Parts: sequence; structure tokens; C-alpha cells
Amino acid sequence: MSIHERYRLSVVINAKGTYTPLGVSRSSDGVAAAVAQALPEFFVMDELGDRASEAIAQFTGAQAGAVVHCTAAGITLSVAATMTGGDPRRIAALPDTTDLHHRVVLPACHVVNYGHTNLQGIRLAGAQVDLAGDETRCSIGDLEEELDGPDVACLFLVSSRLTAGEPIDLIAAVRAAHRRGVPAIIDGAAQFPRIADLLSTGADLVLVSGQKYLGSPTAGLVAGTWSLVQAVRAQERGIGRGMKPTKEAVIGVLAALEEWQAFDRMKWEADELAKVVAFTDAAGKIPGVVAEVVPDPTGLQVSRALLRVPDAKRVATELEAGSPSIYVMTDRVDTNELMFELVPLDDTEIAAILARLWAILT
Ligand SMILES: *Cc1c(COP(=O)(O)O)cnc(C)c1O
Repeated sequence: MSIHERYRLSVVINAKGTYTPLGVSRSSDGVAAAVAQALPEFFVMDELGDRASEAIAQFTGAQAGAVVHCTAAGITLSVAATMTGGDPRRIAALPDTTDLHHRVVLPACHVVNYGHTNLQGIRLAGAQVDLAGDETRCSIGDLEEELDGPDVACLFLVSSRLTAGEPIDLIAAVRAAHRRGVPAIIDGAAQFPRIADLLSTGADLVLVSGQKYLGSPTAGLVAGTWSLVQAVRAQERGIGRGMKPTKEAVIGVLAALEEWQAFDRMKWEADELAKVVAFTDAAGKIPGVVAEVVPDPTGLQVSRALLRVPDAKRVATELEAGSPSIYVMTDRVDTNELMFELVPLDDTEIAAILARLWAILT
């Protein structure tokens, strides 16, 4: 009996990307085996944390790394780290930020909602958010204006498909913060493959989700400078208690990092692109459908299939209503566009999507 049958759960074909409400990603058999091996064992959790730090540092080139519960936790804890450093009394006092630098500068176009807004993720640490620029644009001058005020704890930036407005030059933004002695944090949750690029901006901390493109169990990876990473880990004796990683998550991250380093990225990227091209060709043969391959707008090496279909909203609803339930990206339904991310899907699932599209549209 499948796990879906045993617990009466819908079978899902997820073409919506690394989407949290659908279980995010698929872990490999190797990662699943490592997790299963970890669950019945005891560990000195600090030792596990040290091994994770070494592995993240080695993988990214950063000085140190930490695993926290997820990226949302990483946002709160990295902001906390910039306010408290490693001081146990300050860590215990949060979210009370009396006498601490507690202002976080965030470009207004980097306010994103991944289930809640990152504004709340930052404020959970006790910090106050000061927005720079507006939803359409934030210049380096706009950032400098906010960074020049008193009590700034850090600059917070987001690298994601979800940001609005004109892209911000992350290198220039980090430099503007550093000129004032202010640390910079980048949330690149869905950009694990770009973690080294994000660090090369000079950012002090970079956050990514293990359960998105790395395919580990739910985990937030924090990479960055030695002192700030230690300050993130130290939050576990404060507000980070409820955001700690599980032993199986840390082991899963270690196993997933090893696998990632062992496999051939170039071949993977070529195979994934071939999958999207084949799907787009096949979907383009459905009457009334115009299909094209679109690159990720943020430089992630992931392409997606964009289908222009009549009445896209109805098509998406019918795809979800069927069995298995097919989920696609619907951010652009208003312009009759559906986006498909095929990374985790096998040939059978892709064939099932095409068959359903034929049935709905003809
Ligand atoms: C997914 C996402 C998050 C939250 O990550 P979790 O690991 O699910 O907590 C934060 N920021 C961005 C930009 C995201 O895409």
C-alpha cells in the first residue's frame, strides 16, 4: 500500500516548483537512506553542527555554516545574530532589543511573501524594518539614505523570483552597507545552486533552503563569516530554540551535499533542459496552445515551460481537480499563461500532464 493510500492523501504531480504547500521537493534514495540511518541514533548535536559547518564551508567557500530549521527561521536568526553577536545576555533578552542596534534596512521591492511576509520573519527577532525605495525601484542612494540613520543592525536583501520592480545590484548594495560597517544578509532560499555566487557579492550571511533545490529534508542553510555564523548558532539558547534543526535534517543535508558534489552538474542541466524542450514541443501540438521555453529570471540554471492557453484559470483548476492532482505555476493566469517546472518529474508524470492537457483543451 502506498503512503498516500495508507493515510488517504491526494496523489500530486507537482509542476509548481519548490512549493512549500506541496512538500517542496523529492529527496534521493541516498538522502532518504541517510535520514533513516540517523533517526534511531543519538548524536552530540554540537558535533553534528560542527560537521555541518565544515561541509557548508567546504561547499561554498564561506568561513562557516549552520543548519537551522528552515530559511524562514534563518531570516529571524540571522537578523538576531547581527543584533546580539555572541553575547549570551543579549541572546536571552530577545525579542527585547533595548540598547541594541535593531533597525533592519530592506528594499521595499524585496518584501516577499512565501507563506507569510519576510517583514514578519525579521520582526520576530524584535527588529524594526525600515523600507528603502518603493515597490518599483530601490536605488543605491535610497539604500544609503536608510543606512545612514542610527541603530542599523543589518541590510537585508532577497534574491528570488518573488521580488518586485527593477533588479538591485547586490554587489553595490552590500558595498554600501559595508562602507558604514553594517553587515549584509541575502535570502536566496530557492537558489541553492547559486549559493557561491550570492556569497561572492561580499554578503556576510547567505540563506538557502535545503529542501528546495538541494533535495534535503526541511532545513535552512546559513553560510557566511565565522563570527556571525557562531552568533546564529548561539541563538539556539534563545529565540532559536523553536527553530532548531532536527538530527535527521542535519544528516540529510550532509548526505545531499555529498551527492550534489559527486554528480555531473553540466549533464544534469543539459538533461533538464532537454526535458523542458521535449515537453514544450509536445504541448505546442495541442490545438490553441502556444508553448515556449523560458529561463529562470534570476540566473538559476533552471528552465521552465510557458504555455499560453485559452482560459488558463479554468485549465489550472481542472488540472488540480483531476486525479492525480496536477499543480502548475499560476502567477500569470490573468494573461492566460501557465508555467511548468519539470525538475522533480519523471517521464510518466510528464506524459500524464500532456494527456490531461489534451483532454481538457480538445
Ligand atoms: C521559500 C522561501 C523562504 C522560506 O523558506 P523555508 O525554508 O520554507 O522557510 C524564504 N524566502 C524566500 C525568497 C523563499 O522563496
